[in-house]
Amino acid sequence: MLEIKNLRAKVGDKEVLKGLNLTINAGEVHAIMGPNGAGKSTLSKVLAGHPAYEVVEGDVLYDINFKMTNLLDLAPDERAKEGVFLAYQYPVEVPGVSNLSFLHMAFNSIVEHQGSEPMNEEDFKRLVLDKMKIVGMKQDFLERPVNVGFSGGEKKRNEILQMAVLSPRLAILDETDSGLDIDALRVVSDGVNKLRRPDNAILLITHYQRLLDYIKPDFVHVLADGKIVETGDAALALKLEKQGYDWLL
Ligand code: ADP
Ligand code: MG
Repeated sequence: MLEIKNLRAKVGDKEVLKGLNLTINAGEVHAIMGPNGAGKSTLSKVLAGHPAYEVVEGDVLYDINFKMTNLLDLAPDERAKEGVFLAYQYPVEVPGVSNLSFLHMAFNSIVEHQGSEPMNEEDFKRLVLDKMKIVGMKQDFLERPVNVGFSGGEKKRNEILQMAVLSPRLAILDETDSGLDIDALRVVSDGVNKLRRPDNAILLITHYQRLLDYIKPDFVHVLADGKIVETGDAALALKLEKQGYDWLL
């Protein structure tokens, strides 16, 4: 589904990704761990197409209708319409736009791009209410502006709601677990687990092993100084928790 080859990217004058390689197949869940400032969020933003991050070398190939396409050639909205989804480490507030309108417009943009009929508001609201049960959110969050005045945990749940509604093929979750209490963590993990399918893939960026008690990854990678320096299975995350990152650096 995704093949990242020798990716180098900078923000301002600073090179952050320094030759990163990563291959993700459909049906797989990959976790990326690593010290602060290693470039994890930068990777997520480069994949989503954030304009502040400049790719200086490398390729990101993404399967679109069984054809590996250079994701970097697509605008951010085109990537989203092709099923790439990013849950931000720090979700953005959008004053003046209700959660429902936001989700509805995003949802219809994607289905129309994929050649289906847009969904009317009544049907869409029914779909959203159903998905809100997955993340344990109350209905009044639909009328509130996107993330405005939401607590940290509510913002993270809202990201998972977006994911549940948009049903991406490649979901990138950047520290969706950080700052969550144990109940919210369980809710977020359940939401992610319900989305696991043979035809989609999930890239989980996390700082803490505890998320991986709830979401079992197929692979665990360590990103340090802009590169993947170690790859293993879930046991690697346990080892990192015990021993930290020093032995890899
Ligand atoms: P991580 O998510 O692994 O903690 P980041 O990808 O957020 O790390 O950051 C990697 C490095 O790039 C850090 O040194 C950070 O300060 C720098 N960086 C990231 N985004 C920006 C930006 N918009 N402007 C300046 N520096 C940035
Ligand atoms: Mg980060």
